[in-house]
Amino acid sequence: MRTAGSVVLVFALLLALSSFCFAEKTEKTVVVGVYVTPPKLLLDPDTGQPTGMLGDLLVRIAWEEGWTLKAVPCQWEQCLQALRAGELDLMPDVAKTPQRELQISYHQEPVFRSWSQLFSRQSDLLQSPMDLEGLRIAVLSDSIQLQYLEQLVSGFGIHATFLKVATHGEAFAAAAEGRADVAVASRLFGHLHAGQYQLQPTPVVLQPAGLYYAAPKGKGTALQSRIDYWLTTWKADENSPYYEILHRWSGGSTFSRSDRSLLWILGGVSALLITALLFVVLLRRSVKEKTQHLQQSEQRLQAVLASVEACIFIKGTDYRYQYVNPSICELLGQKEDDILGQDDAAFFMPGTVEQFREEDRKVLETGQRSVDESVSRVIGSDESRIFLSVKQPLRNKQGEIIGLVGVATDITERRRAEQQLHQLSFYDSLTGLPNQQLLIDRLEHALTNSARHGFEGAVLFIDLDNFRDLNDTLGHEAGNQLLVNVAERLSLRIREGDTLARFGGDEFIVVLEELDRERDQAVYQVGHLASVLLELINDPFEMDGQVYTPSASIGIALFSDTRQRASDMIKWAELAMYEAKATGRKRYCFYDPSMQLQALTRTELEAGMRRALGRGEFRLHYQPQYDDNHRLLGLESLVRWQHPERGMVPPGEFIPVAETSGLIMPLGRWILQEACEQLVRWADHPQLAGVSIAVNISAQQMHDSGFVDTVMEVLELTGADARLLKLELTESLLVKNIEQIIDKMIALRAQGVGFSLDDFGTGYSSLSYLKRLPLDQLKIDQGFVRDLLSDPNDEAIVRTIIALGRSLDLAVIAEGVETEQQQASLKRYGCSQFQGYLFSRPLPTGELERFLSESEA
Ligand code: C2E
Ligand code: MG
Ligand code: MG
Repeated sequence: MRTAGSVVLVFALLLALSSFCFAEKTEKTVVVGVYVTPPKLLLDPDTGQPTGMLGDLLVRIAWEEGWTLKAVPCQWEQCLQALRAGELDLMPDVAKTPQRELQISYHQEPVFRSWSQLFSRQSDLLQSPMDLEGLRIAVLSDSIQLQYLEQLVSGFGIHATFLKVATHGEAFAAAAEGRADVAVASRLFGHLHAGQYQLQPTPVVLQPAGLYYAAPKGKGTALQSRIDYWLTTWKADENSPYYEILHRWSGGSTFSRSDRSLLWILGGVSALLITALLFVVLLRRSVKEKTQHLQQSEQRLQAVLASVEACIFIKGTDYRYQYVNPSICELLGQKEDDILGQDDAAFFMPGTVEQFREEDRKVLETGQRSVDESVSRVIGSDESRIFLSVKQPLRNKQGEIIGLVGVATDITERRRAEQQLHQLSFYDSLTGLPNQQLLIDRLEHALTNSARHGFEGAVLFIDLDNFRDLNDTLGHEAGNQLLVNVAERLSLRIREGDTLARFGGDEFIVVLEELDRERDQAVYQVGHLASVLLELINDPFEMDGQVYTPSASIGIALFSDTRQRASDMIKWAELAMYEAKATGRKRYCFYDPSMQLQALTRTELEAGMRRALGRGEFRLHYQPQYDDNHRLLGLESLVRWQHPERGMVPPGEFIPVAETSGLIMPLGRWILQEACEQLVRWADHPQLAGVSIAVNISAQQMHDSGFVDTVMEVLELTGADARLLKLELTESLLVKNIEQIIDKMIALRAQGVGFSLDDFGTGYSSLSYLKRLPLDQLKIDQGFVRDLLSDPNDEAIVRTIIALGRSLDLAVIAEGVETEQQQASLKRYGCSQFQGYLFSRPLPTGELERFLSESEA
C-alpha cells in the first residue's frame, strides 16, 4: 500500500513540474532564430528583437499572446540546425519542402509567398535555365533554392558550379565581385538590394514558395496554432497589422490582398516556364536518344567491320590508307596507326604493289567500280594469297572523287579447294592419271583436231589379264600396287600430247594423236607402240617378296575407223580388246568394223539378259561323263542362251557379265531349279534314272548368305534326290571367307549334295585347305588335257593332280577329252573318269536322250 501511494505522489509531482515548464516556455519566452535577410527578417540593434516583415509580424503576435521573444542571431544554416536540435522554438522565413517536413513543423497558413530570382551583372546573360551551362551560381547553402537548382541542372545535364553562401548579401557580393556569374536571392531582397550591387534581375525565377515560422518537430503545436490564428484573422482584414507591416517593409507596393493575383500570374509564368522546360527536357531527351542511337549504330558498325574476315579499307586519291579494319592489320601484322597514311609499297612486294596501284588508278580515274582477282604477297612472307577485291570510288557532295573504298576477300582456301575438287573430278585418286571424264573430254578434242588437220589418231584399250584372280588371291592392296606400277610403266612411254588414263578397274586407255596421215603407216606406228607397252607390262614385278608377272590385252581403234564420238571410239577399242583376250591374251588386236555387227557390248548384253530371263530364253544342255568302262556316271549341265536373233549364245560370253551385274543370282537359281526338275523328270528314264547332274556354281552364289537355304528350297520344291545333285565350284571361289564356304558345304553335304572342284590346277589352290573341304571330285582343267600329249609340263601337272586326288581320296575327272590318245594317257596315269567331245558335246535333253538310246543299241 505504501509503495503504491508513493508512486502516485511522484507521478503527480512530475506532472505538475512538466506542466509548469511548458507554460513557462510557450507563454512567456519564445526563443527565435534570426538570420538576417532584409526586408523579410532583421535584428533590431536597439531592442534586440526581430524585425523586418517576418520579425515585426512575430513581435506583434507575441504582443497579442503575451510571449516574450528571445532573439538568437544566427546564420541560415546554423539557425536550421539549432531548430532541428530543439534549441530554438521558432525560426521565421522557412519555406516548406517535403524533406524539411520530416524534421521540422510548419503551421497551416503561410505568412506569405515568396520566390527567388536570379540576378547578374548583365541582364541578358540568362534567357532560360539552359543558359546556366558553365556558370557559377552563388546561392544560400542548405536552401530550397539550392535544392531546386541542383535538381534542375542535373535533370538537364547542365554543368554549373555552386558557390554556397550564408546570406543573400554574400551572394550578391560574390556576383558583384565576379566570383560568381549569377546570384540567387529572394525576390524581395533582390528588389531592394540589386541596385546597390549593380546587379540586374534576369528572367529566370525559381518556384514560388510559402514562408513559415518553423518549429522543432513535435514541439511547436501550441505556438504555431496561435500564429495560424492571427495570420488568418489579419489576412482577412485589409487594415490589420499584417498588411500594415508588409506594406511598410516592402517599400509600399508589393503586398496587398490583390497580391494573390500576382501570385497567380507568377504561377502562370512558372507553368509556362515549366512547360518550356518540359519541352526542352523532351527535346534534350530526344537528342540524347538520337545520339545514343547513333553511338549504338556506330558501335554496331565497328563490331561488324571488326568481325568480317574481309579486308575493308579506304584510300585517298594519293593512294594512302585512310581507314583499315582489323583484318588488314592482321594480314599485314601492323597496328592501325602504323598503316594509316602509308601506301601499299610499305607493306607489299613490288609485283603486288604494281597490281594494286593499277586497280586503284582505274577506279580513281574512271570512277568505275572494279572487281579483280589478285595474287598478293606481304613483305617478309613467303606465302602468296589470292584476293578478290571490289573497289568503288568515294565521292563528296559535289560528286568529285575523293578516294576509294575497297573490300578484299581472301579466296586462297576456296581456290585450293576448287583445285582439289578439279583433281578429284578429273583424276584417278589411286594412280593420279586422268579419269574417264577427262579422257573423254580430251578424246573429243583429239577427234576434232584430227578431223581438221587430217592426222590419224588411235585409242588403245588396255586390260590386265587375270587381274581379278590376283585381287582375289593377294588382296586389294596388292591389286592397287600393281595398278600403280603399271600406270608408272605406261607413263614412261607416253609422248607429251598423248593421253594415258585409267578408265576403271584394271583398264587403261591411251589416246595417241598426230600419227601419220597414211593409215598403213599409222597402223604400223600404233602396233609398234602396243607391243612395246605389252612388253613393259609383262616385266616381272616384285610385291611383298613375291614375283608376279602381269600381262595385258590391248584393243586398238583408229580414229579413221569410224569418225565417231569419243564414247564410240572407246567401245570399238574395247571390242578389239575382247578379241585379243579371246584369241589368247598378252596380245593386241585392231578393231575390225565387221566385229561391230556380231558383238554385243556389255550393257546391251546385260539388258538383253534381263529380258531373256523373263522370256525364258535360257536353256540347259547336258554333257555326259563316263568311267573307263564307258559307263555313264553323270552329266554336267551347261547353260546356253537361245537368243532370238543371234541364235545359241555360249556361256563364256554372258556368264562373266551376269557375274559382274548381279544377274547371276536369279539366273543361277533358275539353272539349279531347272537341273533339279530334270532329275525328277528322268527319275524313271531307262538310261538316266540315278545319273547325277553337276551344276556349275559361281562365286557370288556361293558367297551369298542364303545359298544353303536356296538349294534346300529348290530340292524340296522339285522333290529331286539330293544325292544326285553335284555342285561344281571353281578354285578362285575358295579364296575369300573360306570358313563360311566350308560350313555351307558341310551343311549341304549332310543332305547328300556332292561337290566337285572345277578347272583344277588353274587357280591358286592351297593344299592346306583342300584337305579341309568336303569334296568328292577334282576336275582337271581342259587346258592341261589339251596339251597333255605335247607339253611335258602339262603332263606333269596332270599326273600330280591324279596323285593328289588319290591321296586325298577324291575322284579325279578329266574334262575336254577330245581324242582316244588323250584318254589312253589319262588312263595310264590313273585317271578313270572322262568328259569331252570324244564322247559327246553338251546336248539339249531330247538329243541327249536320243544319243544315249542310240549308243546303247
Ligand atoms: P566349265 O564348267 O569348265 O565347262 C566345261 C566347258 O568345256 C564347257 O564349255 C564345255 O562345253 C566345254 N567342253 C566340254 N568338252 C570339251 C572338249 O572336249 N573340248 C573343248 N574344247 N571344250 C569342251 P561351255 O559350255 O562353253 O562353258 C564354259 C564355262 O561357262 C563353263 O566352264 C563354266 O565355267 C561356265 N558355265 C557354263 N554353264 C554354267 C552354269 O550353268 N552356271 C555357271 N555359273 N557357269 C556356267
Ligand atoms: Mg564345269
Ligand atoms: Mg571346267
